[in-house]
Amino acid sequence: MECSEPECSRPAVVELHIPWDDNRLVCAPHARVLGRQNGVVADPLPDCSDELLE
Ligand SMILES: [Zn+2]
Repeated sequence: MECSEPECSRPAVVELHIPWDDNRLVCAPHARVLGRQNGVVADPLPDCSDELLE
């Protein structure tokens, strides 16, 4: 599973729950950026938690 952001091919490691949009699977860097927005909840995918430690 790849990050759902355009032109990003990193592996998705986090599911973002976005109140105003569909949930997205994103890579760790995108999760950090997008997860700062109000109301967004970043939920690490259990299979990939090691990648968050990079
Ligand atoms: Zn990404």
